[in-house]
Amino acid sequence: MPTPGLDGYIPSWHKPEHDDLAELARDFFAKEVLPHAERLERQGHPDREHYLKAGELGLLGLSVPEEFGGGGGDFTHEAVLLHEQQHVGEGSLGLAVHSGIVTGYVVEYGTEEQKRRWLPGLCSGELVGAIAMTEPGGGSDLQAIRTKAVRDGDDYVITGSKTFITNGGVADLVILALKTDTSQGAAGISLVVAEIKNDPPGFRRGRLLEKIGLHSNDTAELFFDDFRVPATNLLGAEGGGFFQMMQQLPQERLVIGVGAVAAMQRAVELAVAYAKERTAFGKTVFAHQNTRMVLADCATRTRASRIFLDDCITRHARGELDVPTAAMAKLWLTEGQCEVVDKCLQIFGGYGYTTEYPIAKMYADARVQKIYGGTNEIMKELIARVL
Ligand SMILES: Cc1cc2nc3c(=O)[nH]c(=O)nc-3n(C[C@H](O)[C@H](O)[C@H](O)COP(=O)(O)OP(=O)(O)OC[C@H]3O[C@@H](n4cnc5c(N)ncnc54)[C@H](O)[C@@H]3O)c2cc1C
Repeated sequence: MPTPGLDGYIPSWHKPEHDDLAELARDFFAKEVLPHAERLERQGHPDREHYLKAGELGLLGLSVPEEFGGGGGDFTHEAVLLHEQQHVGEGSLGLAVHSGIVTGYVVEYGTEEQKRRWLPGLCSGELVGAIAMTEPGGGSDLQAIRTKAVRDGDDYVITGSKTFITNGGVADLVILALKTDTSQGAAGISLVVAEIKNDPPGFRRGRLLEKIGLHSNDTAELFFDDFRVPATNLLGAEGGGFFQMMQQLPQERLVIGVGAVAAMQRAVELAVAYAKERTAFGKTVFAHQNTRMVLADCATRTRASRIFLDDCITRHARGELDVPTAAMAKLWLTEGQCEVVDKCLQIFGGYGYTTEYPIAKMYADARVQKIYGGTNEIMKELIARVL
């Protein structure tokens, strides 16, 4: 993930192969997907063909073992992919969830049979993945989940609803956090994979939610009404779901952090270029001292954020990223993203408020980063617990 243009900084985990991957990813997003950006924004979800094309190029499941159709890499490869996607400004494909989160759960907790059944499709793009924890009644308090699965013979019968589910409009496979024992809190939560390709009986997709940003990525409600899945779709052990989510959420928060830093970088690059071109009072906007000070602040924040992120990625690659540190990363990097993007937008003056300029879209897209993956208030709770 070398930093184009801005500072030439190279992370400690970087290997030459990451450069080839970055180039491949950049080319794919810029040449194959971005030209369709306006149409994708209007339709409110990505094109299935783009998932398939990404799969063909080997960009899906980079950290999935090769024997299951993946790239055989690790989280650093996923980070490079997600960085490039954000940095070029592509937002339709829900790769942060599909590759950054869903495949990880299957690799980590799936049986051999489950891995053989789902991973090749997730890596080829024939299956799009989602993960559903949040419910209409609440997202922060996961122990209060109400969706339930009742065992009936060889099946689970699932009833309940989920909301705000990224990739929910196009997903074929969703990891559901639900209660297999409603008399318990955390200990009653399990993860069950629901196969929802072609909307089978008992399953219904709600409307695509209309959001202030991320217009080309689908966020949907999902409804389950006596929906049957084979009991063999349980991921891990009954009652282990809460622990599994706690184990995986640090990676999810890191995924959000990667996007935050890439967005900061892009915002600074766009603002510097604009400020050097635009003139006011007979000189470029960049030549005014305030602009230089603001951009210096933003570049410094971006650089420091990058180094913190890389430290977290290094820890994660060693299996040592703890919950509070991941929470610090999610908190500080997303706050930084919103701050930097806002300051950079100001440099564009009125043009920054028009959708013609990418910085306006970046401003709207940034806001949710402080909300999903656990709100930033919850991140502060997690950090404060160890103080
Ligand atoms: C675009 C988008 C995509 C999303 N994608 C997914 C997805 O793929 N899968 C998924 O499961 N979810 C997803 N979410 C849901 C997201 O994770 C939740 O919105 C988030 O966890 C907050 O839950 P909530 O909206 O129910 O807010 P609530 O839990 O109702 O919280 C409301 C407010 O109260 C605050 N609060 C709650 N508890 C505390 C506390 N203990 N201390 C202090 N403050 C507190 C919160 O910080 C927040 O400010 C997505 C959301 C959006 C907007």
